[in-house]
Amino acid sequence: MTSRAVLVTGASRGIGRAVAEAFAAGGDRVAVHHRDSADLAERLRAELPGDGHVVVQADLADPDAVRAMVDRAADLLGGLDVLVNNAGVFGPADPPHPVFETGYDQWRQRWREIVDTNLLGAANAAWCAAQHMRDRGGRIVNVSSRGAFRGEPANPAYGASKAGLNSMGQSLAVALAPYGIAVATVAPGFVATDMTNEHLKAPRGAAVRAQSPFNRVAEPTEIAAAVHWLASPEAEWASGTIVDLNGASYLRS
Ligand code: NAD
Repeated sequence: MTSRAVLVTGASRGIGRAVAEAFAAGGDRVAVHHRDSADLAERLRAELPGDGHVVVQADLADPDAVRAMVDRAADLLGGLDVLVNNAGVFGPADPPHPVFETGYDQWRQRWREIVDTNLLGAANAAWCAAQHMRDRGGRIVNVSSRGAFRGEPANPAYGASKAGLNSMGQSLAVALAPYGIAVATVAPGFVATDMTNEHLKAPRGAAVRAQSPFNRVAEPTEIAAAVHWLASPEAEWASGTIVDLNGASYLRS
């Protein structure tokens, strides 16, 4: 298989890092995106197997920065075959009551930050990436969350942003299919990353792990493997799907 040009957002750590490693291990060239982790991103770029990897920077909540980032990635990699919309923000691990203990200013600010990043950042990156894929085909894979299906009672903005991402993936799968661009989504439950550090500490951590009959949470590599396959040439027929990666968590209660 020839080396593809792959842009992974939020790639300096967590799931994004594992995704970048999976593509590089498969022989692809990766644009490692970060917002404010230049050192981490550069170290990862240098450590990835193979040649031709690059680092790009942007705050995904800034539409102009997103466009510049996608164009720069395509420029540096010589085109763009795959976009992985991985970057996302959850916010504080233990928010107070989402309505009655949140002031109106704080409520609006949290919704704006989360939706701007998780939904609009991904939508804008998809638009920009599609311009580069129009004549050569491609793959877009979005990293959503189980919160998209079940809501996120302590953080409604997060659940809503990921539900929007699911819907966007389905719509774009239809709209972009005539151009040979497949769009798919993964929706993980708990994954052991910086985002869930606080959630996974005792005593709550035991209850979180017990949600799955495997009595654990996912490793980033388990999510990365699914993303890597969904972005493969063989996965065109998976376009429009939302892969629920939850270790059988919700099947026995
Ligand atoms: P993480 O916090 O380690 O990584 C998130 C990445 O997104 C970071 O690199 C961060 O810098 C980047 N990011 C956040 N806001 C940004 C912005 N405005 N501009 C640019 N980059 C920004 O967490 P993770 O678990 O690796 O999360 C990766 C994705 O997986 C996220 O979309 C998250 O919502 C999703 N997810 C995580 C879990 C989990 O349990 N960890 C579960 C379901 C979905």
